[in-house]
Amino acid sequence: MSVFNFSAGPAVLPAAVLERAQNELVKYGDSGVSVMEMSHRSAEFIDVAERAEASLRRLLNISDDYAVLFMSGGATMQFAMVPINLSAPGDTIAIVNTGQWSTKAVKEGQRFANVHVAASSESDGFCSVPAFDSWDVPADSAYLHYTPNETIGGVEFHFVPDVAGDIPLVADMSSTILSRPVDVNRFGVIYAGAQKNIGPAGITIGIVRKDLLERARDDAPSLFKYKAYADSGSMINTPPTFPWYMAGLVFEWLEERGGVAEMARINEAKAGRLYSAIDSSGGFYANPVAPDARSWMNVPFTIHDESLTDAFLAQSSAAGLVQLKGHRSVGGMRASIYNAMPDEGVDALIAFMSDFAARNG
Ligand SMILES: *Cc1c(COP(=O)(O)O)cnc(C)c1O
Repeated sequence: MSVFNFSAGPAVLPAAVLERAQNELVKYGDSGVSVMEMSHRSAEFIDVAERAEASLRRLLNISDDYAVLFMSGGATMQFAMVPINLSAPGDTIAIVNTGQWSTKAVKEGQRFANVHVAASSESDGFCSVPAFDSWDVPADSAYLHYTPNETIGGVEFHFVPDVAGDIPLVADMSSTILSRPVDVNRFGVIYAGAQKNIGPAGITIGIVRKDLLERARDDAPSLFKYKAYADSGSMINTPPTFPWYMAGLVFEWLEERGGVAEMARINEAKAGRLYSAIDSSGGFYANPVAPDARSWMNVPFTIHDESLTDAFLAQSSAAGLVQLKGHRSVGGMRASIYNAMPDEGVDALIAFMSDFAARNG
């Protein structure tokens, strides 16, 4: 039986990538040792590291005006690193709050600066993206932070905010990076934990406009300074070498498949099929998100009769559709359908949903 993994993260990886890693696991290339066992400063690993960066630069068309950083600590560490690097104590930082991850960015940001919530969808239960013309971004904001895809709520921005003046735009792209093309030049900082759409947990990608590298607080620990990563090829200390290698394999896999434009085409179609299955279920299933803010990556849904949720989860899991349980704060189901989720997985879920509704309607 094939198993399709709908986990929100750590999430599904391309089968071809896992198989390649398996083949190379014990002896990498001519080195005679595993990637996990080699010095991060060896010629072999430097080659792995540089190829991963070059591939990511090609995929997202990242210019030389940007540093590409490989860090640890997850997106959660970025909630602190961004204010430490881009603001001074007492500065105003503007944050758009569209759900649980933005809320965490607000809370952590408050430890370092004056957070101004520029817009919030809290009043509708974080089920929409606030209309851009309603945002209030103070002109002296050190930066504007937003979360292009709220992984828990399944709320995605289908536009890039057009920030006035020279306020750097900062995006937590953890669960949407590489799912579609994005014009990196519109951003000051993009960051993303790997375990949704890039690779295994343990590495975090930063794409930082080089002129912003100079703004860090003097007293920041060196591991919290973007410039220290940029100046050292992300090797201030031992980086997470194996996740870095795995990320490189995923980037190569994406390039072989036609890159992010092709992924966008596939992802939009996959998500479209799943939302129409929910919408055409005659009220059996529901997704609470405003249609123009529905995520291509994370699709939460509930059953009209909540008492059927446990049966749905048990039976879908027995049918090979695993990790569909919704976030503990939301309940119901959540299907995460990242780049590595094949069409067949989404189609198998839709077929199961239709069958389950017919049996329990
Ligand atoms: C998963 C996630 C995070 C947290 O990532 P960690 O690696 O656990 O720190 C933050 N933001 C978004 C949008 C996420 O999806």
